[in-house]
Amino acid sequence: MATFSPHNELNVYASAEARFEVAAKKLGLGPDDGVYRFMRYPDKEITVYIPVTLDNGQLEVFIGYRVHHSRVRGPCKGGIRYAPNVTLDEVRALASEMTWKCAVVNIPFGGAKGGVICDPAKLSRGELERITRRYTAELTDWFGPEIDVPAPDLGTNEQVMAWIMDTYSMHKRHTTTGVVTGKPVTMGGSYGRHDATGRGLLIACDKTLAKFGLKREQTRVAIQGFGNVGSVSAKLLHQAGYKIVGLADINGGLYNEAGFDVPKVLDWVYQQHKPLPDFPAGGARMSAQDILFQPCDICLPAAVENQITSANVKKLQARILCEGANGPSTAYSDEELDRMGIFVVPDILANAGGVTVSYFEWVQDRQGFFWRENVVNDRLKDILERSFDDVIGYAEKHGVSNRTAAYMLAIDRVAVVLKLRGIYA
Ligand code: NAD
Repeated sequence: MATFSPHNELNVYASAEARFEVAAKKLGLGPDDGVYRFMRYPDKEITVYIPVTLDNGQLEVFIGYRVHHSRVRGPCKGGIRYAPNVTLDEVRALASEMTWKCAVVNIPFGGAKGGVICDPAKLSRGELERITRRYTAELTDWFGPEIDVPAPDLGTNEQVMAWIMDTYSMHKRHTTTGVVTGKPVTMGGSYGRHDATGRGLLIACDKTLAKFGLKREQTRVAIQGFGNVGSVSAKLLHQAGYKIVGLADINGGLYNEAGFDVPKVLDWVYQQHKPLPDFPAGGARMSAQDILFQPCDICLPAAVENQITSANVKKLQARILCEGANGPSTAYSDEELDRMGIFVVPDILANAGGVTVSYFEWVQDRQGFFWRENVVNDRLKDILERSFDDVIGYAEKHGVSNRTAAYMLAIDRVAVVLKLRGIYA
């Protein structure tokens, strides 16, 4: 297992473990405890070598992973990431965080995560489809509505989920929509799933503002990442009246004190397919990372992990950090965030809108009965507002940070079920 030291601050697994340790210790769980030992390790990990014929006729072998961290509270749940820098440690970390995230919002899932080392930007649609189908075929026994239910993550989307559903169904000889979530609405997906993570971030921001008596119109937000999470957050926050002063994607960042006309930026990036930093009259250009450290009230990282570290955390000017991405700040920055008095809405709470509506999608698939979008959005709001109150209330009651509170609440919920079930050892 990874050990946390300043030398591996950027190892996301070490970071996840460090946060688990802090919370477990506060709960009185330690290395002498069987429950602690059980929760600290994943259930299962698999590496698959995926042979794929590229469009040029050459055979390439891609490496893929799937990690089941916990199935104590229900089937494993977690996204699949396609990116050139995927590592097993990263997948492990994200799998454990899915366990805690599902427990924070109290939905009946454990945690999992998957990834394939590949660069989707450099692969054709056919190549992506072949990678996806072979990866799924190798994992047919690992996936299933009652076993492990994947979803999209970085570099994967509705189409990839459709291919997974089809491949799994072909192997099982019957259509099984509930094997993945984040599918197109026309084939068992849920209304509201596409926007769910961004909507959850809006709910988290609204709850934070209400807590501090702040107004949306006077709240400046800087968002890093303009994919599913970042662009939907920008759209919904803008619609709600927030002022979006910073935007960034992998091509770079733009800061504009006057605030962006977000629908125009969406059109520029998604209809005209132009690079975000070239948006006309977009403001000051800077690196995608620098956007996080500009003057704003809410800093909303929604791209990749390890963006806020012990080396740069002091540069934050925001009073609120609302984590859209998974692991955007390292465990080493946690203490400084506390010292600086920044109100952190931790990733396992802030971005849980996606998994919550994934849960709704799974429920709808199993029932074969689909809900209207307003029903989905109302139920999402209900769950996230309650979870926000649970976490913030817990933090205040126990005098710990919001992040530690979220982990404590989650670990406690898993531990309670684990003790009731008993460990088959
Ligand atoms: P995405 O692939 O749709 O978008 C990623 C965005 O980040 C793109 O705009 C990309 O240009 C940008 N980006 C990539 N590398 C960057 C870098 N180094 N610096 C700045 N920008 C960079 O992915 P997504 O689904 O929006 O996921 C973003 C984050 O949110 C990930 O950490 C993911 O795990 C997390 N997350 C996603 C969901 C979901 O429902 N999609 C749910 C919970 C958490």
